[in-house]
Order: sequence, then structure tokens, then C-alpha cells
Amino acid sequence: MANKGKVYIMGAGPGDLELLTLKGKRAIEEADCVVYDRLINPRILDFAKKDAEMIYLGKGNTEGGVIQDEINRTIVTKALEGKTVARVKGGDPFVFGRGGEEIQSLFDNGISFEVIPGITSSISVPAYAGIPVTHRGVARSFHVFTGHTMEDGTWHNFEAIAKLEGTLVFLMGIKTLPIIVSDLVKNGKDPKTPVAIIEKGATADQRVTVGTLENIIEKSKERKIVPPAITIIGEVVNLRETFKWFEDKNLFGKKILVTRDKNQAGEFSNKIEKMGGVAVELPFIEIESVLSKVTPEDLKEYSALLFNSPNGVREFMKKIDDIRSLAHLKIGAVGSKTKELLEEYKIKADFMPEEYMVAKLAELSLEYTKAGEKILIITSDISPCDTDKFNSMYDREFHKIVAYNTKKIIREKDEVINVLNKVEVVTFLSSSTVDAFYASIDGDLECVKNIKFASIGPVTSETMRKYGFSVDYEAKIYDINGILDALK
Ligand code: SAH
Repeated sequence: MANKGKVYIMGAGPGDLELLTLKGKRAIEEADCVVYDRLINPRILDFAKKDAEMIYLGKGNTEGGVIQDEINRTIVTKALEGKTVARVKGGDPFVFGRGGEEIQSLFDNGISFEVIPGITSSISVPAYAGIPVTHRGVARSFHVFTGHTMEDGTWHNFEAIAKLEGTLVFLMGIKTLPIIVSDLVKNGKDPKTPVAIIEKGATADQRVTVGTLENIIEKSKERKIVPPAITIIGEVVNLRETFKWFEDKNLFGKKILVTRDKNQAGEFSNKIEKMGGVAVELPFIEIESVLSKVTPEDLKEYSALLFNSPNGVREFMKKIDDIRSLAHLKIGAVGSKTKELLEEYKIKADFMPEEYMVAKLAELSLEYTKAGEKILIITSDISPCDTDKFNSMYDREFHKIVAYNTKKIIREKDEVINVLNKVEVVTFLSSSTVDAFYASIDGDLECVKNIKFASIGPVTSETMRKYGFSVDYEAKIYDINGILDALK
């Protein structure tokens, strides 16, 4: 029999990816099998190994029983197969997370486990709405309840609850909101007590409804409030007026499609999420290395070396065998990203044009070289780098090396439409992604009629207009920060 595996019973926080703990992240990275529920941010699953088995076992709030047995069985079975299992739950595993029942079945089967606490929604969701659960002089305690009754119908002791002076927090209490409110008021709680209901807290869909015990039922009907949502009752709710912060973020609630290649998408997505937006990734290009070895001999005859993209730098540096072979070269770069990447390799660019275009780079290189000298440009198969033109315009000898190919990814139309239904803005960082996107939707502009488009710069915008896409946002500085600035 295989050695028994191990199970991490872990919490993933309330929805903001970065509220996952470092320990939780490590457990997911290690896991052979991840069992998760519906309350977690799906991007957390990207931390798992490529070949990890991913099992979704979500349970609605009410039908717990049957699915819970299945969850217990699944984690036991997988661990008995010798696998490391991450059982990932929203919030904290012990706050209405049934982590205890799972541990009981692991214990019964002699399987080892660790518990990794998570940031529970009961405190973090109010925090994301600008409501502290305690506050000096306002609330000296907070109390967390489930809004469900027990299986036999037993309900909380509201006579006691109504007397509590601290903040009351109800999870899973949307269906039973009318009873909660009437039982509190019936037992003496002031009807003017402030109430906030926070739906999908700490996510781009967060929505906060504020009222009092007197009017919250009516308001919740008007606003058609749906779970998952948390109800906060107490004077601390009033602090939201001053403490509100999350919804004020620049891209709050914006759902944005990232079309660039998968190796570079992450950096862009993280920036979007930092600004409060949601990044959905669907690459329309991929980068293919084509450069063979670069030897000192290859570079000896040149006096300047020009890079027109970070990918060019990356591919070139992979293939160079001795950095000293660059020592005699002046180095030019297009774009601050290209310059920064060179710096990571301890190479300081000598020059960078104001405008992020290879033609400007070629022009600027004249100032750093002499008549008749040779200049090498590292570029891609689709770059608008026209060395013949440069050679006819300037008294230099320009050559180029194609370091990588940019391969378009043409997708199934249905797949694209499915993703378009989830986003409001599509971003293009190059003309080739526009080409591939247009081809993927078969040129059917009807399916993008509700979509706004953002472009990294004039060249990409021109391609977009050619196909009939609107250019709703255009970067002034032609990089991802520029495009994010435009989206603000
Ligand atoms: N273990 C979880 C709670 C599970 S019970 C935790 O510690 O947070 C499920 C309930 O949690 C939901 O019905 C809702 O009341 C609350 N909840 C969880 N995530 C939430 C979120 N992002 N926004 C609002 N409520 C949330």
C-alpha cells in the first residue's frame, strides 16, 4: 500500500487574491490534489502544480449534508492514495467552514493533517467596506453568528443577543434577514441601529447597502440582495462614511481582458487587480524562440546593439555565452521596460528615444556611432523594423537578427464570446493580438457591441480601427502603465 498522504485544511481569505497567507500559498504549490469551494478567488488555483488534480466541490449554504459527506470521502480517498491534498475554503476553515468535520474523518482514517487559518470574511469583508468590527468608544466586542437555524429548527437566543452592546455580524443570513431583524427589535434592540449588508465583499463585485433595522428589509428587497453577503449591525456601520476605501480604487469593479502572451500577462493582471479591477486572461499570441547561439564573433564587427522589446532582450540574453562580448557596443533600447530588463542583466542602456518606436531608436543611434559603422537590431518577426529603409536614409550599415517569432493564437469563437460575457474592457498591447482576436470572432463585430477597447499606442489603434473596433482608451506612454493610466 502507498504511504498515506497529508491534508492541509486551509482558508483562502474572502476573495482578494492577496489575502491568501504565505503558508496557504505554499500548501497549494505543494499539493497533488486541490479540493476547493465556490467562495475562493479562482486565481488562487493558478499556484497549483500543472499536473495537480483540481476538484471543485462547492456547496450551497443550505444543502450542506450530502456534499459534506462527499468532501470528507474525497479528501480521505486522495490522501490514502498517497497524495498531498489542499482542502481550500473561503475565509477561515473553522468559521462556519466545517473544517472540524473534515478533520474528524481524517482522524478516523489515521491521516495526518495541518490546519492553515485563513482571513475570515466576518472581519475582512466589513473592513473592505470601511467598517471596523470594534472601535474605541463605539464597540468593545463583536459577535459572529450564522443566519441558519439548526436542523431541528432551533434558533439563537435573541433575548440574549439583543442585549449585547458589541457589533453583531451575521453570515449566511440573507434568507433569514427578516427574522433576524424582527427578533432583534422584538427583544429590545433600537430600531434606529445602523445595518450594513455587504455582498461579494473584497471582490470587484462588492456592493454595500446601508440602512437601519427599521428599513433594511425594504432596502434589501429594492436592491435584490443575494448571497454571499454579510450583515453588520451596530454603530460602527456609521464609520464607513469616513473609512470607506476599497470602492474608491481607480479600477474598482472593472473587468478587463488581457490578451498578451501568457508569460507576460501575469504582470499586467497583477497591476489591474492592485487598482481594484478584475483581470481575465485569454492570450492571443505566444512567443517562440528562434535565435541560436550568439558568439563574440557574431558581434565583433558592430559598434551598436539595439533592442526594441523586453522579449528581444530576454531571448538574446538566453543565447549569449559571454557577456563581455558586448563590452565594445553602445546599447540602445525602446521603452522603459526594455531598459529595465537590460538593467536586470547589469547592462545600462546608453540611449532610449522619447517615442517608443524602433525608427526613432535607429535615428537616435546616429548620435552614438560614426559614419560607415555597423549597427545590429534585435527584433521579432513582426516588428516594423525596416533596415533597408534605415540604410538608405543614414550613412550607417543596419542589420537585424530576429530573436523570436510572435505566433498568433486563433481561438474558437464560442470560447471568446464566453469570455467576452465576463468582461467590459478588452486590452490590446500589439497589432498582432488585434489580428488574432478579429480572426477568432470571425470578424463578427456584433459580439463586441457592449465592449470597450483599450490600446497601447497609435500603431495598435490603427489596426483596431481598420477592423472596426472603437479605440475608447489609448495609452499616452506606450507601455502597460500607460494603458492603465488611460483606463483610470
Ligand atoms: N469560512 C468562511 C465562511 C463560510 S460560510 C469565512 O470564514 O469567511 C459562508 C458565508 O460567509 C456566506 O454566506 C457569507 O455570509 C460569508 N461570506 C464569505 N465570503 C464572503 C464575501 N466575499 N462577501 C460576503 N460574504 C461572504
